[in-house]
Formats: sequence, C-alpha cells, structure tokens
Amino acid sequence: MAEENTRVLIIGSGPAGYTAGIYASRANLQPVIYEGMQPGGQLTQTTEIENFPGYPTGVQGPEMMDHIRQQALRFGAEIRSKEISKVDFSKRPFRCEDEDGNVIMAETVIVSTGASAKYLGLPDEEKFRGLGVSACATCDGFFYRKKNVAVVGGGDTACEEALYLASLAKKVYLIVRKDYLRASDVMKKRVENCENIEILFNCNTVSLFGTDGLEGATLVRHKDTPEAESFSIDIDGFFLAIGHHPNTGFLDGQLELDSEGYIKVQGATTHTSVEGVFAAGDVADPRYRQAITAAGTGCRAALDAEHFLMEHSEL
Ligand code: NDP
Repeated sequence: MAEENTRVLIIGSGPAGYTAGIYASRANLQPVIYEGMQPGGQLTQTTEIENFPGYPTGVQGPEMMDHIRQQALRFGAEIRSKEISKVDFSKRPFRCEDEDGNVIMAETVIVSTGASAKYLGLPDEEKFRGLGVSACATCDGFFYRKKNVAVVGGGDTACEEALYLASLAKKVYLIVRKDYLRASDVMKKRVENCENIEILFNCNTVSLFGTDGLEGATLVRHKDTPEAESFSIDIDGFFLAIGHHPNTGFLDGQLELDSEGYIKVQGATTHTSVEGVFAAGDVADPRYRQAITAAGTGCRAALDAEHFLMEHSEL
C-alpha cells in the first residue's frame, strides 16, 4: 500500500472541508481532501439554497457545492473520492489510513465530516426525500408558504423549526411521541401560544402518502396500547427534527467530544483537544448548522492549521 506525506489533510467535504481546501491551497499548503462517500455533504441532498450570500436568485445545493469544490481545485487542492477510515492522533505526523489501506502521514488534520440528521427509518422518507421530506426548515421552509406542514420531534430544534415554519406556512402540526415537549420552557410557551401550530401529543408517524409529491401522513396515537387509533393529516411538507449525529465514529475516541458527541473546540478557534488537529463545520457545531457558518469555520481551520505549521517551523 502507498504511503505519502501531506501538510494538511482535510477529512470531509461539505462547505467546511472545501472552504478549508480553498484557504489551505491558497496558502500553498497543497492540502489533500478526502471527500468521503457523500461528496459535498448534506447540502447535496437539498434542492434550492436561497440563503447563501452571493447567489441572489438562489442555487441548487449540488451546484453550489460543485462551485466551492472547483474553487478548491483551482488553487491546487487534491480531492479524492474516498474515505479516511482510521486515524492515529497519538503523535505527529498523524498516521491516517484510507479505505484501501493507503497511509497518509499528515502534519495537520482538519476534521470536517459533518453531521447527519436522524430520520425515523420509514421507507416513505426515502421515497419523498426532496419531494416533501426534509430535515432543515431553514433550508426548505420557504417552499411551503401558505401550505400545511408537519414537524416531528419535541425538543428545542423541533420547536424552533415549527415556529420558523409557522411564520411561512398556513398550519404546522408538531408530532410529539410523548405527552410532553422536552424543549426549554421558553420554547414550549412560544409553540403553545402560536396560533397556527397544533401539537399532536402521543403520536407516531407510520407512513407518508401522495401520488405527485407528498400529500399526507398516517399517524397512530397511543401506538402499541389498547387505545391505539390511526388517523391521517394532510400535509405538503414533513420535517424531521429528532436530532443529528455528528460523524465522528472513525475518530475512535481520540478527540474530546461533548455530551452529544460533537468535537469540542477551544473558544472561538478550531483547535481540538489534540494539537495540530482542527475541527470545522457541523461536526463541531450543534447550534447553527448552516452552510455559511460551516464555510466560515472551514476558513478558520485552514488559518489555524497554517499558523500551527508556521509556529512549528514546518512551512
Ligand atoms: P433533542 O434530543 O433535545 O430532542 C429530540 C426530540 O426528538 C425529542 O423530543 C425526542 O423525543 C424526539 N425523537 C427522537 N427520536 C424520535 C423518534 N424516533 N420518533 C419520534 N420522535 C423522536 O434534540 P434537539 O435537536 O431538539 O436538541 C439538541 C440539543 O440542542 C438540545 O440540548 C437542545 O436544547 C439544543 N438546542 C438548543 C436550541 C436553543 O437553545 N435555541 C435550539 C436547538 C437545539 P423524546 O423526548 O420522546 O425522546
């Protein structure tokens, strides 16, 4: 198997990874980007993006990611459509291994592997993905102006998404599997006081239906009990807000994570618990999770890596 050296290895390829690639290549660091199994990250699963600065008439998610990717290539980033499956952060240079067993010895590593929205696991979610099913109200809510939508979840994210959608949609159903909202009191109150949100407690979604895009969902109240009752709601949009999992499995516990599994960074920097390893984008951001914020941290990670290399006289 091959072995090579690099000054900056970027693992992951959403707006954070590609932006880190632009900055690192412009700093003449010849970064290598492993873009993984989903090149471009979560945004390649959305349709139109209307809130990324610089696209006044909007842009398709995959197209925008291709633009950022091309920009990284233009300045000399090397992009590989493979995954890093193993890392060893115990000493520098860091030994990283790709899925074929090739070894990359990296002086610095930027982890930007993103986070994945959790789905319920219904086959219908796949069938209607991009045709009514979404896990991002900020990204896709605009398409449901004056329509009926549902949000699944009872936490702060679900409440936030429901409130955001309520400002656009005609009606929002909040589907909660328990008989209470887990969200903070302030969010609960806002949702309860919002006129066009109807909370459906003790409800689970069992299927989605529609012939030309999503038209409705079948729910069961008090599932798996003698009082179980099935009913349908008419909706055009179905939003999952049941949490995300950061993609950190391959790190095998070598970086400090928070209680939710996100990589911990130091203050406003992208420094992780290991010197020379930086984190950018959703994998270190349980809060904002926007393309523009991910791109911003990608930039910061590349600058942090550059400064780190300078301080360690390895430039
Ligand atoms: P949470 O884990 O807090 O909530 C997830 C919700 O989804 C829960 O209501 C849970 O139900 C429900 N759920 C999980 N799996 C399923 C399933 N299979 N079927 C149906 N429902 C399901 O995640 P959030 O993303 O809401 O929040 C994550 C963290 O981020 C929290 O600490 C939150 O406080 C914080 N946050 C803060 C914000 C703010 O301060 N403005 C905004 C957004 C998030 P159950 O309760 O039954 O487990």
